Amino acid sequence: MKITRVECLPLIYPYEKPIYDAIFKASHRQALLVKVYTDNNNVYGVGEAASFGGPLESTKTVIEKEIAPRIIGEDPFNVERIWKKVYYNSFQHARGGIVICALSGIDIALWDIIGKALNTPVYKLLGGYTDKVRAYASGGFYSQGKGTKEITEEIKSYLEQGFTAVKMKVGRNLTSLNPIDVMPDSEYNFTVEEDLERVESVCREIGPGIRLLVDANTAWDLHTAIVMGRHFDRLGVYLIEEPVCTDNMDGSARLAAALDLKVAGYETEQLVFNFARLITNHCIDVVQPDLSWAGGITECRKIANLAYTYHKEFAPHCFSSAVLLMSSLHFLCAIPNGGMLEFDRNPNDLREKILKEPLFIDKDGFVKVPDRPGLGIELNEDIVDKYLVKDTENEE
Ligand SMILES: [Mg+2]
Repeated sequence: MKITRVECLPLIYPYEKPIYDAIFKASHRQALLVKVYTDNNNVYGVGEAASFGGPLESTKTVIEKEIAPRIIGEDPFNVERIWKKVYYNSFQHARGGIVICALSGIDIALWDIIGKALNTPVYKLLGGYTDKVRAYASGGFYSQGKGTKEITEEIKSYLEQGFTAVKMKVGRNLTSLNPIDVMPDSEYNFTVEEDLERVESVCREIGPGIRLLVDANTAWDLHTAIVMGRHFDRLGVYLIEEPVCTDNMDGSARLAAALDLKVAGYETEQLVFNFARLITNHCIDVVQPDLSWAGGITECRKIANLAYTYHKEFAPHCFSSAVLLMSSLHFLCAIPNGGMLEFDRNPNDLREKILKEPLFIDKDGFVKVPDRPGLGIELNEDIVDKYLVKDTENEE
């Protein structure tokens, strides 16, 4: 079998009202889907490449101009060979960053092809451990008009849907190292006391037995993270995600040692070499790369195995289209040290409507992996057409 063609599908779902985390503003949601075609009876694979922090056009260009010429003609079963070929041919100008995001999308699509060609679901190809995983509701963003009362109501609504774990944002503060001062709408911010009031209110509402995760999106300095983390420990918060800057490995390790709650991260990190430092230096308790960002399924398999050897959970970051959601679900169902599946609850048709058979949680808060070949994805072409950016040069 040979790879014959690569196609990018840049998609944008506009928001009526922006949402914010500790640093960033999102006025829309975007996703770069990747289709890889073969010479075998039109078997093709679908993947997704992360494009956070830049226009879709940038990643699309890397895929079309840099990666596609290097993989056309290769056998899609040779995922390790293709991965290494792309990585080392681009090594001099991209040992990380956008090329790895682009490669991630290709790699996910290759696993989809292999599964389809072998008539086997990807989670079984990768090992097969379980057929369902616990999901957590990922929401609780900052938004104009959303105060303590509203965010508490929002979190409560997720519990009513069946979720037994929920995540909310913290960290949109003018603390010393938060780069918010150079970001859009920096005047929209909160004091750490206001953050704490929100978390306390949510904790009172959810009661015992429900896991509360908080996510600071790398915004805090170590001191703030320790002070806030001690409050969270007192409140019984389950986990803090990306508490300090991704490059502050020493700070993350000191924080993880100082607190009872788990430290998770870092979605903003890539490649097994970098996760090896986070894992072996105990900067994190929960290993949280993004499949579409950190190097695809092939690289995340290495990261998950390393996490396993250090007795750490692997719980992928997953905050984009249903293609990434499905890929993350398969991956989690294939490993013995899998954590919870991130289940974004913000409105997004690219997640809710783009699959002919969307994913949903059962009454106990679990998601079942489909028993279809490959990733089991069939795109709803009407929705793809509706949100397809035809001229990416003019986006934004
Ligand atoms: Mg996060």
